[in-house]
Amino acid sequence: MTRKDDMRFEDFDLRPEILRALDDLGYEEPTPIQEGTIDALLRDKDMIGQAQTGSGKTAAFMLPILDRIEEDSTDLQALVLCPTRELALQVADATRSFAKYLDGVEVVPVYGGAPIVDQIAALGRGGQIVVGTPGRVLDLLRRGKMILSDCRMVVLDEADEMLSMGFIDDVRDIFKRTPWGKQTALFSATMPDPIKRLAEEELHAPVHVKIASKEITVDTIEQRVAFCEPKDKIDLLERFLKEADPRCAIVFARTKIGTQRLADDLKRRGHKVRALHGDMSQGSRDSVMIAFRSQRVPLLVATDVAARGLDVSHVTHVVNYELPDEAEVYVHRVGRTGRVGREGFAISFVAKKEQPKLAQIEALLKRKIQVWGEDAPAPDPTIAATPAAPVGEDEATAMVAAAPTGGSAPAGDAATGAGDGPKRRRRRRGGRGRGTGGEGGQPSASVAAE
Ligand code: AMP
Repeated sequence: MTRKDDMRFEDFDLRPEILRALDDLGYEEPTPIQEGTIDALLRDKDMIGQAQTGSGKTAAFMLPILDRIEEDSTDLQALVLCPTRELALQVADATRSFAKYLDGVEVVPVYGGAPIVDQIAALGRGGQIVVGTPGRVLDLLRRGKMILSDCRMVVLDEADEMLSMGFIDDVRDIFKRTPWGKQTALFSATMPDPIKRLAEEELHAPVHVKIASKEITVDTIEQRVAFCEPKDKIDLLERFLKEADPRCAIVFARTKIGTQRLADDLKRRGHKVRALHGDMSQGSRDSVMIAFRSQRVPLLVATDVAARGLDVSHVTHVVNYELPDEAEVYVHRVGRTGRVGREGFAISFVAKKEQPKLAQIEALLKRKIQVWGEDAPAPDPTIAATPAAPVGEDEATAMVAAAPTGGSAPAGDAATGAGDGPKRRRRRRGGRGRGTGGEGGQPSASVAAE
């Protein structure tokens, strides 16, 4: 499908109840992944969507599911697999908001770390859509508490993440229990070989929609680095928090222990902060997320796994307290802010021994990240114009033209420091940093995930 200008949800011929719910949610026009995906799914095509959280992919697969659900039957008709409990709950919540005018449509989230009996009871009451993590879904299937014989639509959400969390065999096992002829959609930010193989085996002539990740970050996320040794990072963080005064920030640390320790340190220093990592019980993870989402707690210190995929649309700042081992994870972290066209600010604290990691990140971004508090170098137009990598040629391909979804300032304008816009924004978003306080804010050129 080629991109049409000014496309609207009405153009997809969705049921009026769904359009009404979208209107309530304030969705005015489809995001690029939605443009590329909804039509293909409504035409019963299998598809691969390469896009990240924040691109609007939940609605991209869920609206076509809802459009074709038969609410007269309470049989399970659609299964969505997600890597984490948090994402499963988030997708279930979003589904309920899209389905609020569809009488009789039920969504049942199922995930580990919560009593299975409650989930069995919920499944027993009937639900046309199940959103779950692979381990728990498989458990329920093995116990005969979940039946997939009428399941016509299967979605793998964040397939690469399911792979890295070790769920790929469970996913294959689940696929074996789904009916022949179902429709399958696979969403993944990246396409490592095992995911490509899975797609080849399970999907039939898929339409491939790839949204370059630069659409998520271009012009919306200012990125900076600050060089500092590990022992000084906590003071630097305090200074950053003081200068930037973030409304809502996520600080990423590498290990569960380090995450907890940093949150405790910040708490001792008087900050309103919570930790989020895999060593916490599900109950405490939930209550942290509720506090963070409702903006009662403005600061979250988290590990990657815990924070991956979380949609908190109001995150204004991301701090990489430690750089991740893999450059792509940097893109995912930074993508927590600047959601759907909003502006965001990300800063990375880089110790000497982390500099090779920074070099890898900059190679991936194809640009240098500006030092916090230093004047912006002139943007390199050849870099900003780098096209997205082509997608597989053997598949029907729908490339959606790059189009930021929000109304952020054009790059040239901000980079030249014209007007007072960049100055004001810089103070609010990133503070001035340790340098001379140069005010030429340069918006990020692009963050390509591959
Ligand atoms: P997702 O990538 O599905 O997690 O969505 C990220 C955020 O974008 C969520 O807060 C959605 O509610 C929001 N969103 C998704 N699609 C649209 C749209 N077409 N217009 C405005 N906001 C949207």
